[in-house]
Amino acid sequence: MSNCDNCPSKGNCNSDESTCSRIFPKYGKIKKIIGVISGKGGVGKSTVTGILAVQLKKAGYKVGVLDADITGPSMPRFFGINEKRADMIPISQEDIKFLPVETPLGIKVISLNLLTEEEEEPVIWRGPLITGVLTQMYTDTQWDDLDYLLIDMPPGTGDIALTIMQSLPVDGMVIVSTPQDMVSMIVKKVVIMAQKMDVNIVGVVENMSYVKCSKCGEKLRVFSKKSAEEQAKYLGIPLLAEMPINLDLVDSLEKGEAEKFANDYEDYKILLENFNNNIK
Ligand code: ADP
Ligand code: MG
Repeated sequence: MSNCDNCPSKGNCNSDESTCSRIFPKYGKIKKIIGVISGKGGVGKSTVTGILAVQLKKAGYKVGVLDADITGPSMPRFFGINEKRADMIPISQEDIKFLPVETPLGIKVISLNLLTEEEEEPVIWRGPLITGVLTQMYTDTQWDDLDYLLIDMPPGTGDIALTIMQSLPVDGMVIVSTPQDMVSMIVKKVVIMAQKMDVNIVGVVENMSYVKCSKCGEKLRVFSKKSAEEQAKYLGIPLLAEMPINLDLVDSLEKGEAEKFANDYEDYKILLENFNNNIK
């Protein structure tokens, strides 16, 4: 198959296949790059990225997180490192790199919020500038050895998501959805997009799947009668985990205690296990 076959710019770009350099290399020694994506915002993409990062780190992997949600970055806050700023280090006379900020557990995080002066300063940029900054955050960061670089993707199938799939050497995508959206065309769009871009789909996480009764422990599916398995089957991709609505989780993330919290919950262990089983 030609390199251009899956490229959305096919026929509309000025380079031919021999000169096209659309995919950046894996810098340093990054083994796997995994994007966490959703059809729309607010479904728990950043939450799942944070939980997966902590689970992988606790399982002994070297983990980095690239916060690619440029206009709504949330990773520094979840990890309680929002007061810090990424240092810049000279690699050679011409080359200066960002040093990711490390969480207490040692997860390496880079986010626009760690590069700008004020956390609350909004990014009022148009698409091309955002995609430029994003690729730079990947290429100009001193990641060193990583088993996994997780990318917290911006919501949807827009410009930035496309750039990431197109120009970063992504090994797989974890799709995050909620029960109402699992059967909707929004998620299907993400699945089809990844397939068209030839990016492997690791599986789907159904977030906010149910509420657990605090008295009897029964799982109450409040948004959909269909099970998460049925819905994943409809999408034709593996189900990685069903995560309950959990207000303690929200509380911990607000306090920047993702690492303390994302501990021994059964759902998180299942997520890690299924992730490991489905990663190629
Ligand atoms: P996204 O990155 O997809 O926009 P977030 O991870 O920021 O979504 O989550 C959106 C909001 O929903 C946040 O306030 C988060 O705390 C909350 N949230 C996410 N997952 C859960 C959950 N399982 N239970 C309760 N609240 C959740
Ligand atoms: Mg987010």
